[in-house]
Amino acid sequence: MRCPQCGTRDTRVIDSRDLEESETIRRRRECAACATRFTTYERVEAARLVVVKRDGTRQEFDRAKLVAGLRKALTRRPVPDGAAEQAADAIEAELRAAGSSEVPSSRVGALSMEQLRTIDQIAYIRFASVYQSFEDLEDLKREVDTLYAEKGDDGSGA
Ligand SMILES: [Zn+2]
Repeated sequence: MRCPQCGTRDTRVIDSRDLEESETIRRRRECAACATRFTTYERVEAARLVVVKRDGTRQEFDRAKLVAGLRKALTRRPVPDGAAEQAADAIEAELRAAGSSEVPSSRVGALSMEQLRTIDQIAYIRFASVYQSFEDLEDLKREVDTLYAEKGDDGSGA
């Protein structure tokens, strides 16, 4: 932070406090060269993440909505408390790691399926049946068969 008086970059923080009810931090600084004291306000800048839907409409990423969707898929499944929240955290982290402020909704859906698939396969099928809107039983069977194949099981129960 440059001193407003002499332009020196060598300034130090002498006091720092959070302002109530806001995401702002007020800092008192002192210039090491001319001893001028000044105040800075720092604000958290939450990186915006916008989800672009198939029809092109844009919507601010809504973590609560994502958690709700995951929870719905996990209803009455034997998974630990907070599984939906953890999955949402992982999904959000992955989305943000891409470094772009805009993500297609299909990416959010794909990551959700990826997460659910590792958590609980029934929840995964539930989510996929809604999200991918399986056209018929054949579609559903294909997905289930894929899961069985990955488990090294042909699904015949033999
Ligand atoms: Zn100065």
